[in-house]
Amino acid sequence: MEVKINETLIMLDCGDITLEDTAVIVNAANEHLAGGAGVDGAIHSAGGPAIMDQCRKIGGCPTGQAVITTGGMLRAGYVIHTVGPVYRDGKNGEAELLQNAYHNSLKLALQNHLQSISFPAISTGVYGYPKDKAAHIALKTCIDFARTNTGIHLIRHILFDRRTYEVYFDELKKLL
Ligand code: ADP
Repeated sequence: MEVKINETLIMLDCGDITLEDTAVIVNAANEHLAGGAGVDGAIHSAGGPAIMDQCRKIGGCPTGQAVITTGGMLRAGYVIHTVGPVYRDGKNGEAELLQNAYHNSLKLALQNHLQSISFPAISTGVYGYPKDKAAHIALKTCIDFARTNTGIHLIRHILFDRRTYEVYFDELKKLL
């Protein structure tokens, strides 16, 4: 599914984000930029050690913020590492932190003149964010960004499994 908001195409797709050829892909990292399981592990193993070398030099990233490194051997030239919140009960600022993670990633892409970006479903794995709520925040933040900024032409949401894709599909329909 895809929608055009001003000059930005927002697309949903099922797949593996490490195969994306957008200018940048986003990693769902942890605050220590230490690498981990899930999408983080997949990005580091596909991109090679150059990514971790730069993560070590950067040192860390607070929840809701974003940093940028090389894409190493990935097709994407860069990786933006952002840290989504661990979901507890939704009453600990999780929604705002997840929104910040998407917004700050988009801002950093724009600052680096990167016109296409792919996101995974941040916080919906080990960090336990309910998928429908996370999809709503992910899509609303991207739509709002596309309405108020120019320069990013393509935002792809790469969903690892069919069920997550369907959740995103339903939320996107509701938002339009
Ligand atoms: P978090 O710690 O932020 O929850 P996870 O990596 O555990 O991060 O999960 C985030 C989402 O990324 C999950 O929906 C998971 O299914 C998905 N995911 C895992 N591997 C990949 C991959 N290679 N490409 C795209 N999405 C992935």
